[in-house]
Amino acid sequence: MPRPSRRSRSLRRVHIRIPSGISKLVYKKGKPKKALCGKCGAVLHGMMRERPTKMQNLPKSQKRPERKYGGVLCPSCTKRKIISDVRTV
Ligand SMILES: [Zn+2]
Repeated sequence: MPRPSRRSRSLRRVHIRIPSGISKLVYKKGKPKKALCGKCGAVLHGMMRERPTKMQNLPKSQKRPERKYGGVLCPSCTKRKIISDVRTV
C-alpha cells in the first residue's frame, strides 16, 4: 500500500527504469496548462510547460519564442500589433 500522500489520484504514476535495471513506480505531479495568447486566447506554440523547478534551470531561449511579444501574443496578433504600432507613430 503506498503511503497516504501518494494515494492521491491527482498524481501521475510513471514506471521508470533505474540505473540498476529495475523498473520502479514513481509519482509525478501534472504539468501546468498551455500558454494562451493575451489577446485572442489561442494556444501559443514553442512554449515549455514544466514544473517551476525545471523551468528555473532552462535557458531563456527555450521558454518562449525570441521575437517581439514572444510568449505573450500569437503570431497573427503580433503582426497586427506591430502594424498598428507603426501606424500610430
Ligand atoms: Zn492571438
